Amino acid sequence: MQISMPENVRKIIEKLEEAGFEAYAVGGCIRDSILGRQPNDWDITTSARPLEIKALFRRTVDTGLQHGTVTVLLGGEGYEVTTYRIDGEYEDGRHPKEVVFTSNLTEDLRRRDFTINAMAYSERDGLVDVFDGMGDIGKGVIRCVGNAEERFTEDALRMLRAVRFSAQLGFSIEESTREAIAKLAGNLSKISAERIQAEMTKLLMSPHPEELRTAYETGITAVILPEFDRMMGTEQHTPHHFCTVGEHTLWALINVRADKVLRLAMLFHDMGKPAVRAADEKGQDHFIGHPEESVRVANEVLHRWKFDNDTINKVKCLVRFHDLRPALTPRSVRRMAHKVGGAMMPLLFEVQRADILAQSGCRREEKLHSLEMVGRIYEEVLEKGQCLSMKELAVSGKDLIADGMEPGKEIGCVLEALLNDVLEEPEHNTKEYLLTYSRELRNSPATNII
Ligand code: ATP
Ligand code: MG
Repeated sequence: MQISMPENVRKIIEKLEEAGFEAYAVGGCIRDSILGRQPNDWDITTSARPLEIKALFRRTVDTGLQHGTVTVLLGGEGYEVTTYRIDGEYEDGRHPKEVVFTSNLTEDLRRRDFTINAMAYSERDGLVDVFDGMGDIGKGVIRCVGNAEERFTEDALRMLRAVRFSAQLGFSIEESTREAIAKLAGNLSKISAERIQAEMTKLLMSPHPEELRTAYETGITAVILPEFDRMMGTEQHTPHHFCTVGEHTLWALINVRADKVLRLAMLFHDMGKPAVRAADEKGQDHFIGHPEESVRVANEVLHRWKFDNDTINKVKCLVRFHDLRPALTPRSVRRMAHKVGGAMMPLLFEVQRADILAQSGCRREEKLHSLEMVGRIYEEVLEKGQCLSMKELAVSGKDLIADGMEPGKEIGCVLEALLNDVLEEPEHNTKEYLLTYSRELRNSPATNII
């Protein structure tokens, strides 16, 4: 087995070896190299202690000295170099009480979560694979190093990581590992929001986001995302759907591009449905007002997982408008673009398409055709440079003040009315027309805007 390592990684390992230490590339980078995937980052494990590592390299950062991690800076890149260690007893299912350094590579590999993540490699020694990670790569399985129950009791996050890796690699979770998850999933309640966020994002962005179903079946979502379990238990008796809200959501996730905001939007778009479901006298379900309720749930969950505000706002926008279907006229499409915001329009089209493709076949061609028409009309509106927002209006608040208006709230109301007019009639977007119109508005008490 030969693995081609980046030049800098080779140099770091060589330097450590020349100084009499052992050193290997380890973990995810080895797994991904074997699988022909592009590694995220290259981690190095070594028998050298942190101070010994620091003494060998010109530029280093103390990333986590107490855990044995030093970042070596080389050619503008950082490489984490970590001393072989044993994670002592775990206090609370989250943090090892103490970290003990060791001079034995096998001990270091033993603390790692899964066999496929517990392989090391150097040019001198080739592949070091004590726990048969190669065998499991061949079989396509995620298996704990050692006893699964013990490993999940030490660190509950590993259970979610198992599902994440199975989604990223298309692997299945080995039976005893899966059973241990089903037994211990409750421990995930102790895991910090930041760690859950990181793993959930990777799971959702993977080639198999539908592996979220495995998280559901093993009881993981019941703990970290009970809102999803409610969707799995919500039937939809309508011609537009053929499955529960949860199954529809899994299809919708598969149908959308692997982009963080898009995948999160699909996860949440119908999450408000369970709360608003109501059957009519014919037994058909209706979900009136579900987008707003979905926005509320999305907001709650995204804050709970400590997502940044930019992501939260974008996701909420897409969820709020996922069912917005304008009439096929430039006027309606301009109104839509004004509400949604130009930057979000292309993403909203992707969300709507993924949603339609995850529904029953009922009127699918018609739905897709309408969506395409809206897209075309929007393109035309853009090509013509028509005004879609306050920024693009031919007059500003300053212009109105220069025209004799008093600064104050009134100005906002007049601008609003002007924009409203221009969205209807784009050719009204000239300074001359709008100033005249604004004077009319001010002089006419009947318009009731001032
Ligand atoms: P990615 O492609 O997401 O970077 P990765 O396998 O490199 O995947 P990291 O979270 O970067 O995952 O961790 C690097 C390595 O550290 C893993 O391959 C594994 O050997 C070990 N590791 C990480 N987290 C844990 C954990 N919670 N328990 C045990 N070992 C872990
Ligand atoms: Mg990594």
